[in-house]
Parts: sequence; structure tokens; C-alpha cells
Amino acid sequence: MMATRLLLLGPPGAGKGTQAQLLVERLGIPQISTGDMLRAAVSAGTELGRRAEAIMARGDLVSDEIVVGVARERLGQSDCSAGFILDGFPRTVGQARALDGILEDFESRLECCVAIVADDEALVERLVKRAAIEGRDDDDEATIRHRMGVYHEQTAPLVDYYREQGVLAEVDGSGSVEAVAERVTEVIS
Ligand code: AMP
Repeated sequence: MMATRLLLLGPPGAGKGTQAQLLVERLGIPQISTGDMLRAAVSAGTELGRRAEAIMARGDLVSDEIVVGVARERLGQSDCSAGFILDGFPRTVGQARALDGILEDFESRLECCVAIVADDEALVERLVKRAAIEGRDDDDEATIRHRMGVYHEQTAPLVDYYREQGVLAEVDGSGSVEAVAERVTEVIS
């Protein structure tokens, strides 16, 4: 039996989104990306988008209160009842605690946190290249380095948080998309 209540954790550019997409296809459960939801809110010009836009452009984290609200609403939708792939949430210990509470309310729990391990410099190089192609305004090199720092300061502590919960699986993020996908499949099987 594959685990279906999953969290993909890792620094910016480690391939969380790509691996999440592959899991969506294989497992038929939704990807929950707070980054995608926030970008959609910015594009739509909603109140939420207006509050998040400048923070995102700087590469800082939107407040726990905002993203926890977004995640709670999304996780409560019926397509999440068979499982979900969290991508980019939680990003702070506060968010992780809130997630535990949300899942408890749904009489559910996280089965596996897949932490993708990758080298910072290789990631910065990859993101600089991707920025040129996609034109994301939080992707100039200084902002990328800032997001990397924010990851190490605020998000990396989640590795220990989930290790202590006994649900952590670390996966080498180097090599091809297929090679990483194989390693991910192994740890969630
Ligand atoms: P991402 O696409 O996951 O890299 O997210 C893009 C940006 O959205 C981040 O740099 C943050 O500004 C914001 N964001 C996305 N998810 C979260 C989260 N869980 N907590 C705080 N900010 C977030």
C-alpha cells in the first residue's frame, strides 16, 4: 500500500512541484500547493492576493495565519479525502503544528514527509536558469538566495519535527526527474 497523505519538503528548486505532479498522475490524489494558490489569488486580484503580493515578490513568507486558512479550506474539500500531496506547506513549525490540528479535526494524519535533499549552489543555478524561462518576479538571483536563507531558517527545522513524529523519509534529489521519482516511490511504498 502506498502512503497517500504526503508532504514534500525541500529547498526552493529541489523539484517538489515536479515530483508532486508525477504523484498526482500515479496516485490520483490532488497536489496542494499554497504557492500556486497564492499566485492565483494575486492574478485574480483578491483581498488575499493583495495582502500576499509584495511579501511573495520579496521572497519572504506570508503569515502563518493566512496560509493556514488557505490550507484548511483546501484540505476540507472532498477530493482530499483519499489523500493529498502537500507541496510548499507547511513552511514553519507553527504551520506544521496547525496542520496536525487540521488533520486531527478530519480524523486524519500525515503518513509520510518526503524531504528532498539537494545542494544549495546547484539549486540556485537551476532557479536562475528557470527564472529566465518563466519570468517569475521572485526569481532574480538575490531573491533566490534570500528564499534559500528563509528556507534554512524557517522551514528546515521541519526535518527534525517530522523525524520526531517518525514519518520522515529523506530522498536524494540529485540526478534526473525519473531517478528522483523512483526514490520517492520507494520511500512511500
Ligand atoms: P512556492 O511556489 O511554494 O515557492 O511559493 C511561492 C511564495 O509563496 C513563497 O516564496 C512565499 O512567499 C509564499 N508561500 C507559499 N507557501 C507558503 C507557506 N506555506 N507559508 C508562507 N508563505 C508561503
